[in-house]
Amino acid sequence: MKILVVNAGSSSLKYQLIDMETEAVLAKGGVERIGIEGSFLKAKGNGKEKVYTQDMPNHKIAIELVIKALQDGDIGVIKSMDEIGAVGHRVVASGEYFKKPTLVTPEVRKTLEKTFELAPLHNPAAATGLSACIEVMPETPMALVFDTSFHQTMPEKAYMFGIKYEDYKEYGVRKYGAHGTSHKFVSQEAAKYLGKKPEDLKIVTCHLGNGSSISAVDGGKCVDTSMGFTPLDGVLMGTRSGCIDASAVEFLARKKGLNAADTVTYLNKQCGVAGISGVSSDFRDLDNGAKEGNARCALALDMFAYQTKKFVGSYAAAMGGLDCIVFTAGIGENSPNVREGICEGLEFLGVRLDKEENGKRVDGIHEVSVKNSSVKVLVIPTNEELVIARETAQLL
Ligand code: AMP
Repeated sequence: MKILVVNAGSSSLKYQLIDMETEAVLAKGGVERIGIEGSFLKAKGNGKEKVYTQDMPNHKIAIELVIKALQDGDIGVIKSMDEIGAVGHRVVASGEYFKKPTLVTPEVRKTLEKTFELAPLHNPAAATGLSACIEVMPETPMALVFDTSFHQTMPEKAYMFGIKYEDYKEYGVRKYGAHGTSHKFVSQEAAKYLGKKPEDLKIVTCHLGNGSSISAVDGGKCVDTSMGFTPLDGVLMGTRSGCIDASAVEFLARKKGLNAADTVTYLNKQCGVAGISGVSSDFRDLDNGAKEGNARCALALDMFAYQTKKFVGSYAAAMGGLDCIVFTAGIGENSPNVREGICEGLEFLGVRLDKEENGKRVDGIHEVSVKNSSVKVLVIPTNEELVIARETAQLL
């Protein structure tokens, strides 16, 4: 069966067509500037790339063009739309409305609307992408796969904030986490690589990218994660502050004359390593800055490694042990310096990084701890689309 994975944003739509027998990506691409002048689709298939430039006033027109590209005489990989067995849609937030991936029904679509206020930038866009696909492919099963699903196994003591219980009940304010598909994928890949059952492993997965989150995966299940009610929580990130005393937020808002919504925008867009360094949110720029002697770039990198290290240590404590640390996503996969900074000082837990190996660039899974390290340190490229396709196939 072939599954189309769709990740719809408010003005963009990324997709992959995956053959579930081989798990190979047959085609992929993305539409940009939907509803904005200058929209285009960049599509890959058959080892070739093609750019389609056409006005796409809405997501329906965009998905129609994607289907056309999938059947293109040159880069196409299918003969007819009927070859697409199902569509898996990435959805950022589920709240407590969905505990697991879900097949779409009219009732599910109504429930999805209730999640909009939890992720106002992302979930309405996913719903728009879903509506467009249903219009274009009315007979094809659709599934929703949530970034938060993997974190639904967290115990109450881990996901609750110390607020009034009645307010948690009334408003659903609790920790939901993020990047769940990535944490799930890399923890499963780690178990496979180590030749162990997931049930027998205590793993800390570090998804370190533009947004970063760290998860404790005990026996294959997520038991804690660093992101909270929204992806603003946890370690400082590219432009996000990470966790901060709520009273400092009120103090800052008063001093800067910002209302509540603008304060949250400030914490999301102007803070993190970009705000600390005053240079960039990109870790490559911070590395270069630190090498040239920029103390604020060095501080931003130090803070990131230190805060991440504290999550690794606290999750080892939460699980009562640690067998493996996994690094993934843009920074986790590509920055030996950050990995070294995080592992440094964790020797007391049994973490022994092989600095030479850590400095090498290797495709696929890369073991960067010394051979007799009791805690394995692995770099594993993430593949969120494949998880969405697998979950969708499982639902069918
Ligand atoms: P992601 O959100 O997973 O796509 O990660 C994007 C981030 O990865 C970028 O903003 C960079 O900070 C970081 N990144 C990518 N390549 C490198 C690299 N070679 N060294 C350090 N950081 C990198």
